[in-house]
Amino acid sequence: MTAAELKKVLVKPSFDHVTLGEGAKQRIRQVFGKELTAAQVVDTIVAAVREHGDEAVIQYTREIDGADITAAALEVRDEEIAAAYTLVDSETLAAIRQAAANVRRFHEEQLPRSWFTEREHGSLLGQKCIPLERVGIYVPGGTATYPSSVIMNAVPASVAGVKEIIMVVPPAKDGSVNPYVLTAAREAGVTRIFKIGGAQAIAALAFGTGLVPKVDKITGPGNIFVTLAKKAVYGYCDIDMLAGPSEILIVADQTADKRYIAADMLSQAEHDVLASSILITDSAELAAAVETELAVQLEQLPRKEIAEQALQRNGLILVTESILEAMELANLSAPEHLEILTAEPFGLLPYVKHAGAVFLGPWSPEPLGDYLAGPNHVLPTGGTARFYSVLNVETFMKKTSIIAYSQQALQAASQQVIRLAEAEGLEAHANAIRVRRDRLC
Ligand code: NAD
Repeated sequence: MTAAELKKVLVKPSFDHVTLGEGAKQRIRQVFGKELTAAQVVDTIVAAVREHGDEAVIQYTREIDGADITAAALEVRDEEIAAAYTLVDSETLAAIRQAAANVRRFHEEQLPRSWFTEREHGSLLGQKCIPLERVGIYVPGGTATYPSSVIMNAVPASVAGVKEIIMVVPPAKDGSVNPYVLTAAREAGVTRIFKIGGAQAIAALAFGTGLVPKVDKITGPGNIFVTLAKKAVYGYCDIDMLAGPSEILIVADQTADKRYIAADMLSQAEHDVLASSILITDSAELAAAVETELAVQLEQLPRKEIAEQALQRNGLILVTESILEAMELANLSAPEHLEILTAEPFGLLPYVKHAGAVFLGPWSPEPLGDYLAGPNHVLPTGGTARFYSVLNVETFMKKTSIIAYSQQALQAASQQVIRLAEAEGLEAHANAIRVRRDRLC
């Protein structure tokens, strides 16, 4: 494989050029009466929700998700949450609570602090960290249910001090929402929940409808329709990042266990047919062993079909000359999850330049981070780890700077401010200093 070919495999195409599966295309023909690209579908839905509000939301929920929900039933009621608690067994509830506690503890470490610093002549400069007032969190619900995503979005928002956390999640065809998701929402501090998915949910949060309040920021992962909708509404509100199908890239040497590698690769492949699972190793022997092992473990998976398709489309095992070359390729890919399974994993950490999250050593499998360790699992995908960070407390905060000069400090600065204002031809700016000059010593 040439370097250029390799780059093509490792670097994902942009979100605008995703090939839709046959099922999705068929749904689009049914709902919109013609063939449309994912971007065209999203533009149509976003415009309709913006113009017609709840009416459009309810219509798309019926036509796309197959759930006939009235306006009165669009928001989850307290009784539904209470009922969910009766359906969740105590062991799972304990795990949800432990996960929320671990995520809270980790994210509390991230809380930025407001600060002041003193400069010359008694002037004070500072920065105030302020939580966003109302955020929307998208919890995916198409091909799987994700109580873990509820926790990973809502807990950092709650730690940041966000007052209103509005959650949206696609309903099942009978209009219900998964009980694990509902209990996780209550445990994680979600304020209100709406049974809406896809682009219609994102548009409802961005513009507000009669029922759904407009939010300041939307976070959370989703499929291509969700991701493109977030892109489309950016500017009307903020968004966290554009997160696409899950990815794992494992860098391993001959000391790694083939069973661990295969299991971890499959843990991502089972998410989505577009998910990607890559092994890069300097050991040809390990590469061959993992390939065989993948086939064995695949057979035992309930989501075998999805995982198999994902491996066929975006599965890759590469053998390099050295482990450092493997790290170079890993950086080129900028994966969502990077596992390092080598004799000295910490020794390779300085070489990591682009990755959403790094898992070091055989006892830190990626699903540990998905659920329980504490760090966030909402991570940049599709090569965007080059410039996006993992979801964190600051995602839900903004910073405001503070300037408090003394009379003497303004005196000292006045001439230079006037000069700069004059250089920009902004007389009124200069005047704001001049009118104070007679009071300056
Ligand atoms: P989803 O909730 O993102 O998408 C389902 C919604 O998409 C439906 O409600 C529907 O309205 C809309 N939709 C589906 N087909 C459509 C069509 N043909 N036309 C218009 N709209 C359509 O759930 P999903 O599909 O299961 O995708 C979840 C994604 O999130 C996966 O790619 C998964 O890998 C990813 N994920 C990522 C993370 C992370 O932290 N990065 C965590 C969990 C899930």
